[in-house]
Amino acid sequence: MELIRARIRDIPDFPKPGILFRDLTPLLADGEAFHLATEALAAQAGEFDLIAGIEARGFVFGAAVAHRTRRGLILIRKPGKLPAETIGFDYGLEYGRDRLELHRHDLPAGARVLLVDDVLATGGTAEAAIRLVTSAGAKVTRALFVVELADLGGASRLTVPHISLVRL
Ligand code: AMP
Repeated sequence: MELIRARIRDIPDFPKPGILFRDLTPLLADGEAFHLATEALAAQAGEFDLIAGIEARGFVFGAAVAHRTRRGLILIRKPGKLPAETIGFDYGLEYGRDRLELHRHDLPAGARVLLVDDVLATGGTAEAAIRLVTSAGAKVTRALFVVELADLGGASRLTVPHISLVRL
C-alpha cells in the first residue's frame, strides 16, 4: 500500500478553491503501482457477476478489475452520454442536482454488482450509483475504492459493505 499511497498526488484548490484534489494519474502511469492496486482491488471483490464503474476514473479501475476477474463491466455515466436506452437516478449535490445513468439492457435483473470508483469523498456519488443499480432490479454486493477521504464521512452514506485501499 505504501507504493500506492506514494503515487497519489495532492493538488490544492482543484477544481475550485478549497478542494484538495487527490490525483491518481501518477498511480496509473506507474505500471507496478497500477498492477498492485488492481490486484488489491480484485482480492477484495468477493462474489459478484458484473462490475459497475463510475465515470470517469471508476472506468479505469473498474475495467482493470473486470479484466483480472473475467467479469463484464457496465458504465455508470453522467446524463446524455450513453446512446442506448437508459435508466437514471437524480440526486442532490451541495448546490444543485445531478444525475447518473446506465444502459438498461446491459444490467440483468438480479445481477450481483461490484461497484468501483477511484475516490470516496462525501459518498453522494456512490450512494446514487447504488440506488440506480438497485432501481434496475440488481443488487450491489460491495463497493471498492482506491482512496477514501475519511474525514468527509462518505462511508456513513453507503448501504453496502465498502473497502478502500488507502484512507487519507
Ligand atoms: P463524492 O460524491 O463526494 O463521494 O465524490 C466522489 C466522486 O468525485 C468520485 O467519482 C471522485 O472521482 C470525485 N472526487 C470527489 N472529491 C475528490 C477529491 N478530493 N479528489 C479526487 N476526486 C474527488
